[in-house]
Amino acid sequence: MKQNRRKFIINTGIIGGTILTSGLNTNTFSKNISIIKKNSNMKLTFKPYTLELKHVFTLASSSRTTTPVVLTQIEYEGITGYGEASMPPYLGESQESASKFLSKVNLSQFKDPFELESILEYVDGIDEFNPAAKASVDIALHDLVGKLIGKPWHKIWGFNKDKTPYTSFTIGIDTNEIVKQKVKEAEEYKILKVKLGRENDKEMINTIRSVTDKPIIVDVNQGWKDKFFALDMINWLSEKNVKLVEQPMPKTMVDDMTWLTEKSMLPTFGDEAVQRIPDVIKAYGVYSGINIKLMKCTGLREAHKMLTLTKSLGMQVMLGCMTETSCGISAVSQLAPETQWADLDGNLLIKNDPFIGTKVVDGKITLTKSPGIGLTKI
Ligand code: MG
Repeated sequence: MKQNRRKFIINTGIIGGTILTSGLNTNTFSKNISIIKKNSNMKLTFKPYTLELKHVFTLASSSRTTTPVVLTQIEYEGITGYGEASMPPYLGESQESASKFLSKVNLSQFKDPFELESILEYVDGIDEFNPAAKASVDIALHDLVGKLIGKPWHKIWGFNKDKTPYTSFTIGIDTNEIVKQKVKEAEEYKILKVKLGRENDKEMINTIRSVTDKPIIVDVNQGWKDKFFALDMINWLSEKNVKLVEQPMPKTMVDDMTWLTEKSMLPTFGDEAVQRIPDVIKAYGVYSGINIKLMKCTGLREAHKMLTLTKSLGMQVMLGCMTETSCGISAVSQLAPETQWADLDGNLLIKNDPFIGTKVVDGKITLTKSPGIGLTKI
């Protein structure tokens, strides 16, 4: 397409931004101007979409069967980049707030999609908060730019695509029989993730241990309010082949959390406590690692920076997700070769994924050579 545009420019005598009018009548001239204008502008469009979950999803604080998302597209020179904002209700964004934010985004002021820094700085500055809505623009722009270059982002960043980790697969809180059934359905996955922070934490782990000895990572979603109780639980979990504990205590209990991490047999990971770059610094010394999610941190541009910063501080990184389509998952998977932990099962939990993207093969995140974020629209 770029080549075609170059040919078009040469054929019509438009060189280096100067329009040579000789030999063109006025009508042809105006027509050519409008073609150039149309092709040189990025066009952002978006639409709400509701994800239907395969199972009821239960956290320490809530349950749900659907997740609202907004799907975005940026078109430029006949190429389309895809993006997504996923907004579980408890995080404070909605299809309405995302649509309102996206209506304010004017990409036509930028002539070059490769100016990712300027464009995304502008998007971030439009309004406070709205991290998922911002991520939907960031992801679509990265997809577009990768497609214009003809390479996937893991390659552009210089990562080895074979170094991706296994992803964990979440076993939701449920009755013992259903939990056992879910563990059976998750046979392909090498690591299980379990949501704790309720009355029956030990029962949940024991139920899983009655059917498998696979490694488990646990996510307490701030559910343990007492540091001594949390430490007892971690000691117990460490003998059950549990590998790490995510957000064991409320994000506001910083001193208690620091104490817990110091004493903990298992690495602790901040999730709710860590949204964007400044939170990485705050997490240093408080947690052993952080969970990076595109929907929290406004997208790939910032996620890549957080990854670099976190690793340079000697902390561990987990890549996480919300309930998302393959769009969000394929985007964040581009960073996976640089991480030890991945919890990227969001697209595997839904019934109506409109995309085909990064696949999980034998439990491992498997990147392809497809350009951008490696996505095909169904
Ligand atoms: Mg979490």
